[in-house]
Amino acid sequence: MPESPEVQALVEFLDERIRGRMIAAVDVDEFRIVKTRTRPPASLVDARIESVRRFGKHVGFDTAGGWLMLGFGRNGWIRWQTPGDPPPAEPVPEVARIALDDGTAMQIVDTGDFLAVTLAVVDDPADASGIAALGPDPLDDGFTREGFEHALGSRRKQIKALLQEQTSLAGIGNAYSDEILHRARIAPTVHAALLGEEERGRLFDAMVDVLRGAVADRRGVPPERLKQAKVEAMAVHGRGGESCPVCGTTIVDRVFGGASAQLCPHCQAEPASG
Ligand SMILES: [Zn+2]
Repeated sequence: MPESPEVQALVEFLDERIRGRMIAAVDVDEFRIVKTRTRPPASLVDARIESVRRFGKHVGFDTAGGWLMLGFGRNGWIRWQTPGDPPPAEPVPEVARIALDDGTAMQIVDTGDFLAVTLAVVDDPADASGIAALGPDPLDDGFTREGFEHALGSRRKQIKALLQEQTSLAGIGNAYSDEILHRARIAPTVHAALLGEEERGRLFDAMVDVLRGAVADRRGVPPERLKQAKVEAMAVHGRGGESCPVCGTTIVDRVFGGASAQLCPHCQAEPASG
């Protein structure tokens, strides 16, 4: 699932290239992705793109005709195409395509078994589903320890699940929640309410360091290579059976609450009380 660092890199890549361009055509192959039927994406043809921005894991295109809001779901992404690009080696699961006036195009793809990409045309980003309810974003300059404490509250919810809850904190998914908790040396199953002052401080620092570090590392990487760059950068996520880069202990896979986590049982020992 795309998470905020890769979406941020994508947004910066696109903003540099399409700011000021006009939308020449919008072709929707899968009409089910369009969430604003009375205002289809094709209504933005001939509209000028003012900027591209990130909202949590979503992308918003600010155009003269309104905002085009794109949600990736689990397996959505954008393929950037320039004239003269060789045709793809394998068929591409395109769900929509936005062509620009200079011949470039953004191909919106969804490689999942079920369709999860969403497109909406709205006057205000907050009018798109899920955007107004987004929690504070750790990548925002205005993200503070106070905002973090507010998001954490004193909730009896497992910390890994809470980190991924978009209404608590925006932009984090399965992979970065594993990485943040490993960096903070906190077990994913611990309830937020049981974290002490020192642990909360470590978690805040780890969250900011991991996410901002990932943004810095991903910046300038072309969209088609971002997913692989993310996979390669992971310390514990997706690395069950490998050695913890900090202590050398074997990383384990855990399944709880219907989700999987990878963690170092030494660095992230669970409290004795369980
Ligand atoms: Zn370790």
